[in-house]
Amino acid sequence: MLSFKYYKNVNSLAKLIDGNLVSKQIKENLIVEVFKYKQLYNKTPVLAILQVGDRQDSNVYIRMKLKSAEEVGINAQLMKLPKNITEAQLLSNINKLNNDSDIHGIILQLPIDSSNSIDTDHVLAQISIDKDVDGLHPFNNGQLSHGVTKDVFLPCTPNGCIHLIKSTGCDIEGKRAVVIGRSRIVGGPMAQLLIWNNATVTVCHSRTRDIPDIVRQADILVAALGKPEFVKGDWIKPGAIVIDCGINPIPDDTKKSGYRLVGDVDIEEVAQVASWITPVPGGVGPMTVCMLLKNTIDGAFRYAQKYYDKDNTLDESLIDISGDSIPIHKLNIEETIANGGDCEIKSAQ
Ligand code: NDP
Repeated sequence: MLSFKYYKNVNSLAKLIDGNLVSKQIKENLIVEVFKYKQLYNKTPVLAILQVGDRQDSNVYIRMKLKSAEEVGINAQLMKLPKNITEAQLLSNINKLNNDSDIHGIILQLPIDSSNSIDTDHVLAQISIDKDVDGLHPFNNGQLSHGVTKDVFLPCTPNGCIHLIKSTGCDIEGKRAVVIGRSRIVGGPMAQLLIWNNATVTVCHSRTRDIPDIVRQADILVAALGKPEFVKGDWIKPGAIVIDCGINPIPDDTKKSGYRLVGDVDIEEVAQVASWITPVPGGVGPMTVCMLLKNTIDGAFRYAQKYYDKDNTLDESLIDISGDSIPIHKLNIEETIANGGDCEIKSAQ
């Protein structure tokens, strides 16, 4: 259980769940894991980040991922692809990364910023299931829906939320949980993770009626809908744990940027009723990146156990030609740039 502060002052009931603190503690363990990996395999875990186009918000998230990866010793590489890339070209780049035995994790930054029509679901399904560190491949989704939560890639934001809930000392088993949102990235897998942690879960979405009444039953509330300050104080069961995934910019003349970030929960009101609450920023956000790093390192260990031989080189005899995730040859990324390839790669190190 973490040390805590109250939201604003001790007169509010809610204690803050500090995502920066929890993620810092997890990162300290990850540094040790990377060290062990280097000792065992004489290699560094490598994360490839694919970005199509140049969205400013994506650039900010990617910078955070590169910086955090560097902090724990992961070699994160950004592969920046032009906005006019076709789906076939994007798939070809993914295939090369799938087949590179020195790449352990691949993420595709979403949303895809392309001038061509690209089927995001189809593209995500082409990432090797052994390297799907965002946990968005249908196979990994399916595993979670079957209750397989060990030795698989769990989606980062929901897994981070579970860590935050547990950091309060709360035993999830038997609790009533409500998730607002059913997206593939946050709400959907969040509900699954709560179910397999033995909570009784209700999912609300844009067609749900009487959301306040449903939320009033929640011992644990996870808000992931993308609507600023949507959840109000009189919806909250006294003593509930409230996890706010929302990141919503709203105009604020007092800020140099002209805006400030708020969550999906009205924290001023909710902090008077809940027992624990995540701030925005500084709650769920840092945990998402932290879980990405954890997935990359765990995945690198699994990959090495599955595919490297005793000399820690790729063991061709382990290659199953029927698989969709099988390493074949190493992509020389530097060479791709030098030859005027269709990608630009920046290393975080
Ligand atoms: P999506 O837009 O993909 O999904 C939003 C979900 O909320 C949908 O299921 C939608 O319902 C539901 N919803 C929308 N409006 C309402 C409403 N009025 N009442 C009830 N349900 C509603 O968003 P994401 O899941 O990707 O993200 C949710 C929030 O989390 C966003 O603010 C996003 O910025 C943030 N986020 C934060 C991350 C972090 O690291 N902290 C990471 C990822 C996201 P329906 O399915 O019916 O359309």
